[in-house]
Formats: sequence, structure tokens, C-alpha cells
Amino acid sequence: MFCRNCGKEVPENAEVCVNCGMKPLMGKKFCQNCGAETKENQEVCTKCGVKLKSSMGKGAKSKLVAGLLGIFLGYLGIHKFYLGYPVPAVIMLLLSIIGGFLTFGAVTGIMGLIGLIEGILYLTKSDEDFDDIYVQNQKKWF
Ligand SMILES: [Zn+2]
Ligand SMILES: [Zn+2]
Repeated sequence: MFCRNCGKEVPENAEVCVNCGMKPLMGKKFCQNCGAETKENQEVCTKCGVKLKSSMGKGAKSKLVAGLLGIFLGYLGIHKFYLGYPVPAVIMLLLSIIGGFLTFGAVTGIMGLIGLIEGILYLTKSDEDFDDIYVQNQKKWF
């Protein structure tokens, strides 16, 4: 792959570019796939057609944190707040509290199960897939 800051070729998944010292995906000036120049807010490389990657994204989120929040506090929708999905998060929170109250905890249990499954799904994804699916593309359920 190529450093997105300086356009030099770097090893696949390199943490730091040996040429410029930045994280290779922190820059926005070159395509990570072919090294062609790109513009600041370009999403797709005009030369090779790949989706441009950026670790700046919407603020790198930790897969581990999101997964553990889902598993342990999933019924409160905390993992969705963490990932920046306030609406589904509030839905889960309200269903757990109000729905749970009306159904003697049954709905809370279901919300807990959804959180658990989502937490496990997060943890089984690779870091790259997690970032792509849940941070960049904001997949809100499962
Ligand atoms: Zn570089
Ligand atoms: Zn390209």
C-alpha cells in the first residue's frame, strides 16, 4: 500500500510511514492503493477506483470497547451511544426501562440479548471490517 500523506510505498498495514513518520492512513493526499494524488475530501480514487481509507474517519472507535459495552451494558444501548448512533441507543434504553417495566423484565432481557449478540459480532470482525462497517458506514443494528 501507499502512504496517504506522502505517497511513498509502505508495507501492508504499516503503523508508521518510514518516509514521513505519519500513520500511512492519516493523510489525505494520495491513494493508499495506487499512490495517485487525491483531494482532501475525495472518497474514491479516480485512477484505480478503490474507496479511499482514512484512519481519521469519524474518530477511530475501539472495537474492544464497543464489544465489551455491548456484552455487559448492551441492554442500555451504551455501545450504540459509544459508536455514535444516538437514536437506536435511545430506543434500546427506553425499551429496556419502560418495556422492561411493563413486561416484568422480559423486554430488558431481549435488549440484553441483542446487545450481547452485537458485542460478539463487533469482536469477531477484523479491526478493518469493524471500522468500515460500524464507524465509516454506521451500520446501526447487528
Ligand atoms: Zn509517508
Ligand atoms: Zn488509486
